[in-house]
This record gives sequence, C-alpha cells and structure tokens, in this order.
Amino acid sequence: MPLMPLCQAAHSRKLETGRAQILALYEVEPHGLEDAGALHSDVVPVAVCRLEKITHADLLHALAGGFDVIYLKACTAPKGLEQQSLEVELVQALGGLGRILLFDGAAGVDRQLAARLLPFPSVAPEVLAVGSRRDTARASAAALLPPSIGHVALPEQAPYGTLDLCGDLCTHCNSCVWVCPSDALSLTESGSEISFTGSLCFQCGLCVSICPPRALNLAPGMDLTVHAELPHLLEGPEGPDAGTMAPAEGRFSDGSGAAVFDQAGEAALPFEETGFSPVQESRRTGRV
Ligand code: SF4
Ligand code: SF4
Repeated sequence: MPLMPLCQAAHSRKLETGRAQILALYEVEPHGLEDAGALHSDVVPVAVCRLEKITHADLLHALAGGFDVIYLKACTAPKGLEQQSLEVELVQALGGLGRILLFDGAAGVDRQLAARLLPFPSVAPEVLAVGSRRDTARASAAALLPPSIGHVALPEQAPYGTLDLCGDLCTHCNSCVWVCPSDALSLTESGSEISFTGSLCFQCGLCVSICPPRALNLAPGMDLTVHAELPHLLEGPEGPDAGTMAPAEGRFSDGSGAAVFDQAGEAALPFEETGFSPVQESRRTGRV
C-alpha cells in the first residue's frame, strides 16, 4: 500500500478544504460502497492485496498523518480476522480510539459517510516516518494522544513495553543480556549492572524465560517520552519503567495495569455517533 503519498495528499487536502479525510481499505470493493455518498468528507478508497498484513504502524501513521477515519474491511478467514482485530485494538489504545473500524460489508458505512465529521489535526506524514516502523508507530501515537500522556498501558502480548526486575532475586548471571535479540539489554560499562533501552524491547519474553530465578517480568506499554530511547538501569515494579506513568486522568488505564478503551468526554469520535455495529474485537494484541 503506497501509504505515504496517500497521507500526504490527505493532509494537504484537509489543510486546503477543512474537510474530513476518510480512508477505506478492502481487497474487493464491497457492494454498495460506491453508492455511499460522502457529502461532507473526502473518501479515499484503496484496494489492498492482503488485509491482514496491514499493521498498527501503518494505520497509526495514516491517522496521525492525514486521515481522520479509517474503515478497514474485515478479513473473511478467521485467522486473518483475528490478526486484524489485534492490530486494530493496538491502534485504538495508541490514540486511534473511535477513528478506526473493521466492517463486514458496506451496509452501515454509507450512513457513516453521510455524517458530518469534524477533521482532526494532523502532522505532515513525512515528519512521522522516522527510523524504523516501530519509531514511526511511536511518533504517530505521540501525535495522536494528548501531550499529557507519557505512557500508555497496553494489552498482554503488545510488542512494546518494559521489564520489571526483582533485584533481590537477580543473581547477575547475565543470561538475559546474552539472549536478548534486540540489544534492549546490555551490561553497564562496569559490567556489574543491566542496562535497558525501552524503545528496542519488543516483549519477546526470551529474557524472562531464560532467567533462572524468575527475576524478570514483562510490562507491556508504550513510553512516549525520551526516556524510552535512553539506556537506563532496570528497576522493580515501583521504578519509573513499570507502567506507573499511567495515562493522564486514567483515560486508558483503570489502575489495574490493564488497558481500558474508553475515552469518555472525547469529542467527535465518529464511530460512536451512530448505531453502526463493528466487528467484535479481541482483547489481545499481535506482534510486529
Ligand atoms: S523481552 Fe525480548 S526484546 Fe525485550 S529485553 Fe527481553 S529479550 Fe530483549
Ligand atoms: S537472567 Fe535473571 S538472574 Fe540473570 S542477570 Fe538477568 S535478571 Fe539477573
């Protein structure tokens, strides 16, 4: 999917016209979509080869970089639908709540397209496309979420997060450092302590499973601050990396560490304005 030019065009159109930009993604155009009128918005229909291959990084980038709403056709194969649902769930947690919808057919979408949507602010998409796809996802989430939110708790199996270390249990065997495939773990210069870089950790769990005394635990979440980029000492659950930087006003966290997808009070959430029923979503999130 040529995402960048689509986003750039949507971003420019929105600046020029003030109209909401809608991205509709499908493999085969659903019957009835061509008849759906979009009086107040610009609709960009795009046929893609493999719907289940569209990741949360692509979708977050599109939402932050030009599009206000994404309609994603649901896969018909159960496995593809499960993967899609996981990606959509991650998008919702990272700032796309109310702005992305899996749909079964065109029925219902036509009503949505006819509604008057208020455009959201967007960032020039090339500004967000920095470094790896993970970096783009983080930059896009930071653009979508309010600046007061420095950390978002994510569901189990999310590919972002930190580690909790129980210092009392650690025997300093360094097995976790040697097994880490992403260099998220390393030894400090003195070789006596473990350094951790959050932005590199994709929560594969290898370090947790190899640790003899079970001193490590995964803590899924996305740190949107510069802290995630900087190597620092691992700490316990009470440390600054343990998801204690809860989203502001608890909007994405219920205090239990679990993600809560409820943005009460958020204005102009298009998919909550009508009775359109989306595809059921899973509570787990896939990896990238
Ligand atoms: S979970 Fe995986 S990527 Fe993260 S620190 Fe452990 S081994 Fe490295
Ligand atoms: S594998 Fe476990 S015990 Fe060994 S250094 Fe890592 S946290 Fe400590």
